[in-house]
Amino acid sequence: MNNVKLSDRLQLVLEQVPAGSRLADIGSDHALLPVAALESGTAVSAIAGEVNPGPFDAACKGVAEAGLGHKIAVRRGDGLEVLQPGEADCISIAGMGGSLIAAILDRGQSGGKLEGVKTLALQPNVGEDILRRWLLGNGWVLTAEHILEEDGKIYEILTAVPEDPAAGLTNEQLYAEQTLGSGLVCGRDLLLQMGPLLLQKPNGAFLSKWQGEIAKLEGILTSLSRSELESAEEKRNKIKAQITTISEVLSCLPKDKL
Ligand code: SAM
Repeated sequence: MNNVKLSDRLQLVLEQVPAGSRLADIGSDHALLPVAALESGTAVSAIAGEVNPGPFDAACKGVAEAGLGHKIAVRRGDGLEVLQPGEADCISIAGMGGSLIAAILDRGQSGGKLEGVKTLALQPNVGEDILRRWLLGNGWVLTAEHILEEDGKIYEILTAVPEDPAAGLTNEQLYAEQTLGSGLVCGRDLLLQMGPLLLQKPNGAFLSKWQGEIAKLEGILTSLSRSELESAEEKRNKIKAQITTISEVLSCLPKDKL
């Protein structure tokens, strides 16, 4: 039975954890995710990693209150330094910026902490493109991308596994040019920015996110319009091109799915 009530966002992260996993949840805060992973029978054991003292104490408390101290180890440390190589087969990192998640993975990989890890379940709050770029550059291939709106915020969840050409899991295939409905060609940069799998299965949250991005870019354009500097003109042109590209993508999306 699942006693902890997760937000829709964390529930979706939990759904990316394969059954029978030894989970490491980094930046665990109250340890809600590892507790739910054990209570639901998804994970067989877990490590809850926290760098900051307050959230570390909250994680210890959450695990003790759930009576799961024999299954979940709460460890204090920076990123994957709380793990020994081979200790976890699934790592979740949720609720941080994409560049921080990428930096944690990068340092962990250099220290051999990704050895034996079969699944990464990642939920960047911002900077999804930075994280996709890290995965692409480090031999991890996305197997799922989700986007959802909760309490007025939009979240993306990226699930990745090691590249496996024999199983047809390659980044070359994932990031091959995609042609959308009206013939618009999406190259690698656009796929990294918007999500190669999200573009194949867009939903209402995807549309909201990118309509919001257009609105932000239009705001920047308005503030830049007051400047007569040559550099401002260059920036304006770049932003206009971005708005045009995003608008073109949005106009190609299948309307029945949004
Ligand atoms: N993962 C939970 C969630 O998604 O609801 C909590 C997210 S909370 C916004 C981010 C947590 O990450 C904080 O508790 C913070 O202390 C922790 N954190 C930030 N940098 C970290 C790092 N380098 N290593 C471990 N934990 C970190």
